[in-house]
Formats: sequence, structure tokens, C-alpha cells
Amino acid sequence: MRLGSRFTTLFGVLSAAAAVLLILVFDETLRRAVEDRVVARFERERDYLAEELDRFPARPEELDASLRRAAKVLECRITLVAPDGRVTHDTDLLPADVPAMENHGTRPEIRQARESGSGAATRFSATEGEDRLYFARRRPNGDVLRLSVAAAQVREIELPYLWSSRAAIVLACLALFLVGRSLSKRFSDPIGELTEAASAIAAGEPGRELPSSGAEEVQLLGASLRRMKDSLERAAERADAERRLTAMVFEQLPDGLVVVDSRLHVLESNARFARMIGVPAPAGRAVYDLLRNRALYELFETTLKTGETAEKTVRLGDEIVWHVIVAAIPGGSRAAAVGALRDVTRLERTESMRRTFVADVSHELRTPIASIAAAAETLSEGGTDEADTAQLLDLIRRQSDRMRELIDDLMDLAQIESGAVELRREELSLPALLREVARELAPAASARSIRVSVAADEEIRVEADRRRLGQIVRNLLDNAIKFCRDGGAVRLDAGRAGRETFFSIGDEGPGIPRAEQEKIFQRFYQIDRSRAKTRPGTGLGLAIVKHLVQLHGGRIEVESEAGAGSTFRVFLPAV
Ligand code: ADP
Repeated sequence: MRLGSRFTTLFGVLSAAAAVLLILVFDETLRRAVEDRVVARFERERDYLAEELDRFPARPEELDASLRRAAKVLECRITLVAPDGRVTHDTDLLPADVPAMENHGTRPEIRQARESGSGAATRFSATEGEDRLYFARRRPNGDVLRLSVAAAQVREIELPYLWSSRAAIVLACLALFLVGRSLSKRFSDPIGELTEAASAIAAGEPGRELPSSGAEEVQLLGASLRRMKDSLERAAERADAERRLTAMVFEQLPDGLVVVDSRLHVLESNARFARMIGVPAPAGRAVYDLLRNRALYELFETTLKTGETAEKTVRLGDEIVWHVIVAAIPGGSRAAAVGALRDVTRLERTESMRRTFVADVSHELRTPIASIAAAAETLSEGGTDEADTAQLLDLIRRQSDRMRELIDDLMDLAQIESGAVELRREELSLPALLREVARELAPAASARSIRVSVAADEEIRVEADRRRLGQIVRNLLDNAIKFCRDGGAVRLDAGRAGRETFFSIGDEGPGIPRAEQEKIFQRFYQIDRSRAKTRPGTGLGLAIVKHLVQLHGGRIEVESEAGAGSTFRVFLPAV
């Protein structure tokens, strides 16, 4: 029930109770007061009549008529009783009937009057069949004069007084009720408004204003509520900003994040997680359905069971490697655990490349170092003839060249990748450069009966760094010869294609499977070390080539089919 209605009810009940109580008290007081006055009046009238009768004694035959006149005027019954109790006159009876009346000598008022001069009584009258009031007085001659009046008649006199007093009480109480109600409304209405506004705010209507009217206490309450509302709003704003920040961080994290409930169903996840698992909206789905990996699922299960953080690196198929950390979320919220999934495929690959590379470099270095050491030892022992000495010295030179080549490649790649290489561009003849490199590598080709041919339009010129373009051609031709079948052919070609100038180097080697064609340009990537017909490479050549081509503003393509040779084609912007 509202405070206002409570006050109204309370004032209503109090006013009604007060009215009833006052009416009861006043009715009684009023009745007594009126009765006292009526009694006093009749006593006065009795005494006056008695005195009048004595002062102007009527003749016996006129006495009855005088008494009846007086009874009419005074609106009462008049009885005259002789000293022996006999009724001599009675204004309510015919004179003929009076002698038959019962002796009144024992009536209390008559006895009292005879003894003390006056008497009064109230009792039931058998003659009239009603309650009556009697007022008696002894006359000097011993008779008793008695006036009697019906009690109902007295009540009739009382009635208007009673009703006006009751009406006054009711009106006063009504006025009291109205004043009380209006006062209480002045107090309760602002509280009601405050309550309503506070409820609206609690129900999510933050813009709702709190009223500031009413009594001082209500105003203080309103001010406190307003302060509370302000601080709540500020707290909500802060929480909202923090939530937005968390959501942003959650979304921007490079790791896939997934929050699960105790049944291992996804509650929330970020975009990275959706991308990693390839499901656009994972919310509500079971972790196992999404990940389809027992090891990962068990990781989540273990964390939920033990409450401890667990982590694992998991391989999905041949390619993908994830490092996953699952932590339990304490505190009885719906969220039971959070998993962070990091795709470490590249890292793993780089790491394995680094390991392979270190092994390769060590291997590459060990072989020439061993050869050099052996040759040096033989030479230091002496006793070699001139031809052997020359051969050994040549071996030392070639092996040191090889080491230098490897170190150069490494340095080159490091330099190119760090962006420190600056091209010294010049306009040069592409066919001339191709021929120059072909000549350089001719010994390696002819050693395995490989024919190297250059077929290019002599006019074709490019703007390039001579040394770097030579390096590109050398690396590609070196590979072509290296992988070409013995006795096969390697063709160098140059031409124009639209706004580009290109050159290509085709061989008759094992070809490169389509799936590998992009990867061979990555650092240290080698399809299969045993493919090379001669020495194995370092896996750096094509990475260097690709970087250098891009540095020239060009691009490189490979066209190959397994078993049908490969053609590497380099496009450069036309001069
Ligand atoms: P490497 O020093 O091993 O030759 P590259 O970066 O030059 O390193 O080449 C990377 C890999 O690409 C090689 O190991 C080889 O597997 C493959 N490859 C490069 N050129 C050819 C080619 N002409 N024919 C077949 N495979 C090739």
C-alpha cells in the first residue's frame, strides 16, 4: 500500500473513531444537561402553578377547568391528590372517572412531597403505558399537586440538540480528516514521487529526474538519492568504459580467446578465435565440436577439474601448430574457464627452419673446413709434388670460395631483409648480362653435359643494378643447372610483355609441385635436399632472388609441373 493511501486510511479511521467517541460522550452529557433543564423547568412550573392556586384559590367547581387549562398550556398531565392519597383531579381523565382511580398515597413522589414539601420520580406508568417523569408539591392545605410528563416528550426536546451536536462533531472530524490528509499528502506525495522516480531508475530509466520538493526531511532524502544516482551513473559509466576497453582488448588480441561454461560450451569468444577455428559464430557451441581435437578438449577438462592453469602445444594436421593455455575462472560466475589459443605455426616453422639452417650451415661449413684442413695437413707434411700441391691449393681455394659464398648469402639476405641495400641503377643490355652469367656457370653445366642456350632480342634493355641483377640471374641459373637432368638443356630467354620486360630460365629438372611453388621463396625452404644433382644448397637463393626482384619493382613467377622441368620468369618494369 502506498504511503499516501496509508495516511488517508489512518486519518479516516482516526477521524471516524474520534467522531464516534465524541458523539457517545457528548450525547450523554447533552442528554443530562437537557434533562436537567427540563426537570428544572417542570419543577419551576409545578411551583409556580402551586403558588398560583394558593394565591388565587378557585372555586371547587372551577378548579378542574383551571387545572385542565394549565395542563394544556404546560403540555403535561396534572393530578391533584388529597392528603389521604385519593386522586381528586386528573387532567388526563374525565372527571367522572377520577374517583375510580387507585389511591396514590404510596407513590414515591407523593410520599416525598408530603414528607419534605416536594418530590420527583421517574417510572413506568401503568395508566399511560410508558415511562414518565413526576414532579410533586405539597400545598398548604395538605393536597399534593403533581405534574407529569412522558419521558418520550423529554427525549423529543433533546433530539434537535443531540442532532446538531452530532452534526457539529461529524463536521469537525471531517474537517480534521481533510486537514490531516492534506498535510499527510504534502509529506507523502513527494515521497511517492521520489519512490516512483527511484523505481524508474532502478528499472533502467537512467535519465529520470528525482523531484526536489516536499518537507525538509523529504528534500534531504531526495538529495541523498540524487547523490546516489549520480555516483551510480558515474560508476555505470566507468564500468561501461572498462567493459568497452576490455571488449576492445579482447577483440584486438592477436590470440584466439574463448570463454566457456562448466559444460564446456562457448560463452564468448573473439574474432581471432572464430577465424582460427573457421566458425563465424561459435557462441553456444560445444568446445569439442568446434576444436575436434581430443588433446585440446582434455586440456579444458583438466583445468575445470583441477582449477589449475594448463597449457599445451598441439599439432593440428601436418601444418598448423597451436599453443593453448587454459585458465580456470573462479568466483561462481557462468564463465568457468578461459582459453587462449596462439597460432605458433609460423614460429614453429621458423624455429624448425632455424634449426635446419643451423644444421645446414654447420654442415655446409664442416665439409669445406674438413677439406681445407686435410689439404693443409697434407701440404704441411711436405713431400707432395708440384702437381699435387697445385691441386691441393686449388681445393683450398674452391672450398674457401664455397664458404665465402654461404657467408655472402647469409649476409646478403640479412642486409636485404633489413632494408639496408641500395640499388645502383643503370641501363644495361639484358641479353648481354644473361650471356655473361651463362658463361660464368658454363663449367658446372658442361661437367654434367647440360646445354645452356641464350635466345634473346639483343635490343632488350633494363634499368637495374648490374651486380644485383647478375646475382638474380646467377642464383636462378645455378638452380636450373643444379636440378637439371644430366645431359639436359637449360634455356635463357628475354622479351617484352606489355609494359614489362622479362627474362626466363627453363630447365629439364624434376619440376616443382604446385603446392610447393610459393614456399620455395621462403628462407631456408627446400623441397627435398636429395633432389639437387650436385651439392645441396642453403635454401637461401630464391629468398634472396625474390627480395632483389621486388627491390627492382618487379615480380617473379614459376611455371612448373612435376617431372616436366621448371621455368622461372622475372618481370621488371620496362625502361
Ligand atoms: P637451394 O640453395 O636449396 O637451391 P633455393 O632458395 O635456391 O635454395 O631454392 C629453394 C628450393 O627450391 C630448392 O631447395 C629446391 O628444392 C627448389 N628449387 C629451386 N629451383 C629449382 C629448380 N629449377 N628445379 C627444381 N626445384 C628447384
